[in-house]
Amino acid sequence: MFRLPFPPVSPRHWTRALLRVLLPSMCALCGGGSDDVVCAACRDAYAQPRTARCGRCANPLAHAPACGADGGRGLCGACLVNPPAFDATVAAVDYALPLDQLVLQLKFGARLALAPWCARQLRDAVLARPGLALPDLLCPVPLGPGRLVERGFNQALEIARPLAAALGVACHPALALRMLDTPAQSGVAPDARARNVRGAFAVADPDLVEGSHVGLVDDVMTSGHTLDELAATFKRFGAARVTNFVFARTPPRP
Ligand SMILES: [Zn+2]
Ligand SMILES: [Zn+2]
Repeated sequence: MFRLPFPPVSPRHWTRALLRVLLPSMCALCGGGSDDVVCAACRDAYAQPRTARCGRCANPLAHAPACGADGGRGLCGACLVNPPAFDATVAAVDYALPLDQLVLQLKFGARLALAPWCARQLRDAVLARPGLALPDLLCPVPLGPGRLVERGFNQALEIARPLAAALGVACHPALALRMLDTPAQSGVAPDARARNVRGAFAVADPDLVEGSHVGLVDDVMTSGHTLDELAATFKRFGAARVTNFVFARTPPRP
């Protein structure tokens, strides 16, 4: 008699099996069971938006700005003395344990499913700043051609796509071009980082930029020199305003 090699299974079984493959089952931070890449408990514990940030560079402030984070209010001393080329920065979280692990898993472990989660935290950080002007378009900070080939993806673009969909703005993946494969900023001495990225960028479609509010997206903002250089490049091409959207902001060293 003919016998099936496995017990017969129901469509419901297949649906559950498919969902197990398609959906993450473990929290990337605590390893506990979760139907999201980060469980709700870890999100509540570690990823609450910090409200007391400089409106321009997103560095922590001692107190939350009294009203709006733009228009010259709620800025840190460094931005008041030496304003960067960008006009505003939205950061979802601090780049610190344990959330830095998510960025490392995304970037070096190619765990791309983390990027839409990062984008959702950024969207929540935008919603936590009522009155913030939304950009006309989003553009990821580009990788150099060598690094893109090596890694196979640009983590900034992986975050920018779902963020653009959430904010209802267009995403232009190749609007900014990195002309040079500059050494990673993390491997460059802090006082050499501005020089390392000087002249690194170009704009592919100046007509799109002229008079526009450009949103730049990156996974991590550390010194801010890369975003400052890119914002200055867009301003040279006529951008009216530049706002950064970064998942994690490295707090300044004490
Ligand atoms: Zn967890
Ligand atoms: Zn600042």
